[in-house]
Amino acid sequence: MQEDIVRLIELQKIDLEILRLEKSVAEVPQALKKAKKERDLLKEKINVLEKAIEEKEKQKNLFEEELKEEQKRLKQTQARLTQIRGSRDYQILLREIDEMKKTIRIKEDEILKLMEEIENLSKERDNLKNQLEKVQAVLEEETKKFEKFCEEINAEKESLLKKRKEIAEKISGGILRKYELIRQKKGGVGIAAVENGVCEGCFMSVPPQLYNELQKDNRFYECPHCKRIIYFKRIYHKEEEALPEES
Ligand SMILES: [Zn+2]
Repeated sequence: MQEDIVRLIELQKIDLEILRLEKSVAEVPQALKKAKKERDLLKEKINVLEKAIEEKEKQKNLFEEELKEEQKRLKQTQARLTQIRGSRDYQILLREIDEMKKTIRIKEDEILKLMEEIENLSKERDNLKNQLEKVQAVLEEETKKFEKFCEEINAEKESLLKKRKEIAEKISGGILRKYELIRQKKGGVGIAAVENGVCEGCFMSVPPQLYNELQKDNRFYECPHCKRIIYFKRIYHKEEEALPEES
C-alpha cells in the first residue's frame, strides 16, 4: 500500500462530503420559496385592490361634490318658484326641478353603489392582509430555519476543511496537485478505484497490461480514459466501502 494513495482516498471522501454540504446550502428550500412566492402574490393583490379602492373613493368624492352642487341648484330653483306667477314659466321651472331631482336620485344611487363596492373591496383587502400576516410569519420562520441550517452546515464544512488540510499536508506535492487538477475538472472526483479491470471513475475498462501493472501497486497510475489517479481496489478497500460514485 502506498501511503499517499491511502491519504488521497481519505481526502477524496472528505472532498465529496464537502461538495455534498455545499450543494445542500446552495439551493433555497421549497418551503421558503413557496412562502416568498405567496407573499409576493398577496402583496401584489393587495396593491391592486388598494388602487381600485382609491379610484372608487375619488369617484365617490367627485359625485358627492356634484350632488352638493345639484342640491344647491335645486334649492335656488325652488326658491325662485315662489316668486314666479306666470304659469308658463312656472311649468318650465317645475320641469327643471323634476329633472334636478331625478339627477340627484341617480347621483345618490351611484354614490351608494360606490360605497358598497368600496366596502366589499376593503373587506377583500383586509382578508388578504390577514393572509399576508400569516404568510410573513411562515416566511420568517422558514428563513430562520434555513439560516440555522446553513450555519450548521458551514460549521461542519469548517471542521472538514481543517481535517482536509491536515491530510493534504502529508501528501507529496506532485500527486496532490494532480489530484486537485483532475478533481476540479471531473466533477469532484480525482482518484478512482479499479475493480475487475474497470475504472470506477469513468466505468471504462483499463487495458489488461495496465491492470496487471496496477496490481503491483508500486507507483502511481492514471486511467487512460478519464485521467484520474487509479489504484487497485482490493489492496486499499479490504473492508471499507467503495467510494461514492461521481455525481
Ligand atoms: Zn477512468
